[in-house]
Amino acid sequence: MAVLPIQITGNPVLHARASEVTSFDLTLATLVADMFETMEAAPGVGLAAPQVDIPLRLFVFNWTDDDDTVWRGVAINPILWVSPVPIGPADEEKESEGCLSVPGERYPLRRSELAILTAVDLDQKPFEIRAEGWLARIFQHEYDHLEGVLYVDRLDHAAGKAAAKAVKKSGWGEPGLSWTPGIDDLEG
Ligand code: ZN
Repeated sequence: MAVLPIQITGNPVLHARASEVTSFDLTLATLVADMFETMEAAPGVGLAAPQVDIPLRLFVFNWTDDDDTVWRGVAINPILWVSPVPIGPADEEKESEGCLSVPGERYPLRRSELAILTAVDLDQKPFEIRAEGWLARIFQHEYDHLEGVLYVDRLDHAAGKAAAKAVKKSGWGEPGLSWTPGIDDLEG
């Protein structure tokens, strides 16, 4: 297993739609193991394959809810149903999210309260998770990565401007930049 470099915003792989997984082989199993290791080293609650420079439709997640239930798994070729996004401004305290591909930044964003994730696992076994609240947010964030969308692309005008400024100030927004958890001193 290995911790993989995490691509930073500006790398084209983060801004393009990822392809369906068609080979459920040892290479895929190794990728998934490495993605879990990378996510946990970062640390993060989710990681999508494009973030480690692999343009395939899969993501891993690891989150413990208020009832101490651990939601940990891999979603391959996922489909996501979401409820309508609530109207109104995002709450800075309760609705701010971050991304390992825009490390160290957090901005408020409205998300759907309910999401239903349908996907297959490494054994091509289908599963479904009905997610609410923060888990629903994680699924929306990771699914977006597979569509080539970062959460900073979805911000309202003020937060979007602040994010664009932070990206520019860090020298991001161009191809070829990455960071490796445990090696580079950056936090998501
Ligand atoms: Zn992200």
